[in-house]
Amino acid sequence: MKKFLIYLFRVILLLVAICIIFLNYRPNVSYLKTHTFSGGDHHEIGKLRVQFTGNTNVLVTDGETAILTDGFFTRPPLTQFLWGDIEPDIEVIQSSLDQAGIDNLDAVIPVHSHFDHAMDSPIVAQQTGAKLVGSESTMNIGRGLGFPEDQMVVARSAIPIKFGSMKVTLIQGKHWPYPDKELGDKLLNNEIDSPIKPPASAMDYKEGASYTIIIEHEEATLAIHGSAGFVPNILEDYEVDILFLGVAGLETMDETFNADFQTHVTGALNPEVIVPIHWDDFFVPLRKGLKSRGLLEKMLQGMDLERSLDIVEEKNPNRKMVILPLWEKISVNSLMGKSE
Ligand SMILES: [Zn+2]
Repeated sequence: MKKFLIYLFRVILLLVAICIIFLNYRPNVSYLKTHTFSGGDHHEIGKLRVQFTGNTNVLVTDGETAILTDGFFTRPPLTQFLWGDIEPDIEVIQSSLDQAGIDNLDAVIPVHSHFDHAMDSPIVAQQTGAKLVGSESTMNIGRGLGFPEDQMVVARSAIPIKFGSMKVTLIQGKHWPYPDKELGDKLLNNEIDSPIKPPASAMDYKEGASYTIIIEHEEATLAIHGSAGFVPNILEDYEVDILFLGVAGLETMDETFNADFQTHVTGALNPEVIVPIHWDDFFVPLRKGLKSRGLLEKMLQGMDLERSLDIVEEKNPNRKMVILPLWEKISVNSLMGKSE
């Protein structure tokens, strides 16, 4: 009996060790090193800046007007996501805003209402005096956190909203279709129909509406396409200089999907520069830097960042592709390679 217990203990220990390795081992993604933007010797001309703070957080600011997508900073640990309830971490949110140098925003706009985009948005909007813009589902996340009703703006697809020097248009499209049908049924094509009072299950944060967000400014037009899904022909009337492209999951889709995604998103928007977003592991806190997804996700869901970046690059040989470094505010003109 004693021998058996020792044997059992060793087996459990081994299984735990294997789990820890799978959770923490991250395949090396050389693309991140070779394609990370560095300003080089371009003069920083113009006022328009962008800043990437993980997942699909993109700040667009000219010093007068500032728009932030998502503002998701809490990044709860995977174990809490799987087996517990999650909630915004006010301290982490504030210290992230401080580190990003963000104290004033005109609008916070989640790309859709899943927790990894919209959970913190009302808090960020509150801390920065911003309007919360999005679907009714996003408004219900705001209501659950006591966000003031008169600071909420429900977006209507393709109808522009003016914020200072920027014109912002949300176009309702589609989320990346989860290959796991059960997860897809739970998380897609559904609404948050009553206020969420966190702590709550991650599954309570339903999709709401997934948007492509177009930001027009006199210096450049940008698009933030947070999730790797598409609706045919809805982006044809827009043309952008820089496309922030959510790449997570492209590598799990078949060639037909990826060809259509190219036609109806990147091809339609016709950007000069593509900035991949939604590529980092959003269960890792930002203070540890941006990390690619672990081996466990690769094994369970087929997630493979190098492959998804390759797919985009192969289809866009004449477009520049750059990874933005965390926290840095980068001049849009230097991103586009303009030096005077
Ligand atoms: Zn999502």
